[in-house]
Amino acid sequence: MVLFNAEDKREKLSSGKTLDFEETILITKGHHLWSNRSHKMMEILEDTNGRNDFLLAPCSPETFQIMYQNPEYHPSCFENLYTNLAAFGLEPDDVPTAFNIFMNVQFSADGKLTVAPPTSKAGDYVLLEAKMDLIVGLTACSAEQSNNYSFKPIQYEIIRAQN
Ligand SMILES: [Zn+2]
Repeated sequence: MVLFNAEDKREKLSSGKTLDFEETILITKGHHLWSNRSHKMMEILEDTNGRNDFLLAPCSPETFQIMYQNPEYHPSCFENLYTNLAAFGLEPDDVPTAFNIFMNVQFSADGKLTVAPPTSKAGDYVLLEAKMDLIVGLTACSAEQSNNYSFKPIQYEIIRAQN
């Protein structure tokens, strides 16, 4: 998931600011997602799985070439995001590090990163509250390793605030 301020798209989701202000790399219920301008973009109200990643960039064609030695075309989060965000005047270079909901990235004491199968189960969800008007980019990841080699649709619902 990536976020942009609908009023000024140069303001966008920031992994660095979020990890800094929340003082953790494990972002879950009770934390906020912060922008590059140090504003709260969303609050995580519920997270039934509780394991998310905010370190890794959206997978792209290069991810499959460089990491997985796959020279063939492969769909990717990055392509899904920039092709659909183009309707909002956003370009590929605008796409920030995504908040990777349910992605299970493990790290060892010496800093080694590995992508493990998600711990989420059917029915798990996150409930996010927008703190500003947002453009939200959402994609299901097409990297085999991130999904335990099993691809399933994701669902989302937009709940309007009661005023
Ligand atoms: Zn992906």
